[in-house]
Amino acid sequence: MASYDVIVIGAGPGGYVCAIRCAQLGLKTAVVEGRETLGGTCLNVGCIPSKALLHSTHLLHEAEHNFAHMGLKGKSPSVDWNQMKAYKDEVIGQNTGGIEFLFKKNKIDWIKGWASIPGAGKVQVGDEVHEAKNIVIASGSVPASIPGVEIDEKIVVSSTGALELPKIPKKLTVIGAGVIGLELGSVYARLGSEVTVVEYMDAVCPGMDKDVQRSFKRILEKQGLNFVMGAAVQSVETSKTKAKVKYQPKKGGDEVTLDADVVLVATGRKPYSEGLGLDALGVKMTERGQIAADDHWRTNIPGVYAIGDVIEGPMLAHKAEDEGMAVAEVIAGKHGHVNYGVIPGVVYTTPEVATVGAAEDALKAEGKKVKVGKFMFMGNARAKAVGQAEGGFVKIITDAETDRILGAAIIGPAAGDMIHELCVAMEFGASAEDVALTCHAHPTYSEAVREAALACGDGPIHS
Ligand code: FAD
Repeated sequence: MASYDVIVIGAGPGGYVCAIRCAQLGLKTAVVEGRETLGGTCLNVGCIPSKALLHSTHLLHEAEHNFAHMGLKGKSPSVDWNQMKAYKDEVIGQNTGGIEFLFKKNKIDWIKGWASIPGAGKVQVGDEVHEAKNIVIASGSVPASIPGVEIDEKIVVSSTGALELPKIPKKLTVIGAGVIGLELGSVYARLGSEVTVVEYMDAVCPGMDKDVQRSFKRILEKQGLNFVMGAAVQSVETSKTKAKVKYQPKKGGDEVTLDADVVLVATGRKPYSEGLGLDALGVKMTERGQIAADDHWRTNIPGVYAIGDVIEGPMLAHKAEDEGMAVAEVIAGKHGHVNYGVIPGVVYTTPEVATVGAAEDALKAEGKKVKVGKFMFMGNARAKAVGQAEGGFVKIITDAETDRILGAAIIGPAAGDMIHELCVAMEFGASAEDVALTCHAHPTYSEAVREAALACGDGPIHS
């Protein structure tokens, strides 16, 4: 039995970041992780493998659709799917190995196995019970399905199965037009699958502004994705190699059947806390099965904290990381803080879509007086040079009276990186004018951010 200042359960972005910060703050720290490798969902079956496949297939798309136009002639590359998956696994290995290195560097013990909490201050792994002054639960989330749809990870797959398909399906039906469904749908569309996305709502990516949703859907349709909107999936029937997806149009009419070789269920994720013994410990849960935590990530049991996907809030790696760092500060007696109003959300398709803060539609629905500055990438020289000007824009939403930035959305090249200029501006309480008065290098995509900021005032230059 070993004794620690902090034991973190789960080595995803929430848990591993928390452990590193705890160790940096001088706390004796261990992490329990049941997986073979560190990094959680994000590094093993989430953010990182999906981005590796998005990158490879983006290059394929460029070669097939844009190279000839730029004077790069010759045969397009052919796809070696097994090698593409091997590349993805290599990227995963580099990243998970990197966390193992950081654990060693920071003298963090990795206790291998599945943890439970038999009592406050105790963490059990196998037959061993370890003592901890503080326990941080960072046990993450797992894919969720919908009634009538059973995931077998062969024909009907979650995102995890979709990253490992033995072959590229001819017909892929994606249930759910959220971030994961659209990213992985893009991957397979670029690989030549006939992709149909079936969505219950009338728009993609719920929560985003309508103009962003419309442009995004139009761009994806141009790339070959098919959409069936307002469709309530009733069931998926499978034979040995095929599936039938049955849906009921919300506006009425007969049930429709779609044939597919593979069905990707991308209807969201659910918090995961099985096997931890939280019931017996008396940990308070929310109605949605998350661990209830206060604004300092404390559960109702003294000395037990919870962070990341297993608590409320957006299920995003960087949200989990921020909470990991902040809870470490709290445990060390310092001031941990997360500004939940400034957590960007990014879809890593081409083009990328990034948002932060409040949405225009939501603010207007609240009756808030806002000013909106919008600039189309068609007016941005750099976006034209890389063939990514069409359809995208930067939008900045400000308080009509104070000019303070309340939110932003970008649909365009490198949107996921550019959004941070606006995140920093929001953290500093900046106005659109502050951004507009800042010199931006030419020719960069970021000039479009400045132009959108100018559009909140006297107007942009290039439109
Ligand atoms: P997790 O990463 O889920 O880690 C929890 C860990 O705890 C797991 O490794 C699990 O094995 C371990 N564990 C659980 N219970 C126990 C136990 N009892 N004992 C020991 N170990 C335990 N987010 C982004 O921000 N950007 C993206 O681009 C992005 N892309 C994604 C793509 C896909 C396909 C998926 C599925 C998710 C994606 N996400 C993305 C979401 C992101 O992966 C999660 O928000 C993030 O991983 C949550 O971190 P976490 O630390 O809370 O939990």
